[in-house]
Amino acid sequence: MKTAPLQPAPPLPAGASILVIAAHPDDIEFGVGGSVARWVREGARVSYVIVTDGGAGSNDPAHARNWLVAEREREQRAAAACLGVQDVRFLGYPDGMLQPTLELRKALTRVIRELKPYRVVCQDPTTVYFEDSYINHPDHRAAGEAATYAVFPSSETRPIFPELLAEGLEPHKVSELYLTLTTQPTHYVAVGDVLADKLAALRCHVTQIGAGDAAENGALKWISALDERFGQQVGVAAAEFYRVMTFDRSAEGD
Ligand SMILES: [Zn+2]
Repeated sequence: MKTAPLQPAPPLPAGASILVIAAHPDDIEFGVGGSVARWVREGARVSYVIVTDGGAGSNDPAHARNWLVAEREREQRAAAACLGVQDVRFLGYPDGMLQPTLELRKALTRVIRELKPYRVVCQDPTTVYFEDSYINHPDHRAAGEAATYAVFPSSETRPIFPELLAEGLEPHKVSELYLTLTTQPTHYVAVGDVLADKLAALRCHVTQIGAGDAAENGALKWISALDERFGQQVGVAAAEFYRVMTFDRSAEGD
């Protein structure tokens, strides 16, 4: 992770809409759950798109894929509700095999044009290795690439995906792109006072982190320590960090 001083994330306009796009059920809770809790508290309308079905999220031979897909959707909806998010959309692509296709880009462009978010949050498609302990999941990169190019140029360019115009979906210009799981962070969101909310949302993902002591002493302890370590780097109790891209619309008259 880059050690240049990070800036606090820019303030959110009143009533802003935020769209969070992620590859798997639980990615949002691990990566940006504290930020979502904060943004909802600040009055944002937050929606989620989960690109894959989560069906590869277990090595337990006793877990039938269909059962796991249904259970993970239920877990994801519960986790979203925990943070005040009711709008959760599942695109249902097979987990573990995601590609940044034009079909996926169009599906994400459709959602962006419908919801007209001020801010889009997605996974940084350029991250291959994270620190010295994690090879980034290729689904994260694929979802991030499709989401990034849905933000620009597809959402705002009228001639791209003309079939969306036929659905009544006019172009929309996103103002900010937040890239999570990035090796080039520029901004942080302080999450110390909402860390309990983030952990509560994570507890919904029982198929992924277990329950009881297994969860508390495993994934929850790990993510708390990680966010606190990031927080220490910027002088707050805990933090989530992003590469933030801001698109200046002031000169465009809209
Ligand atoms: Zn994931």
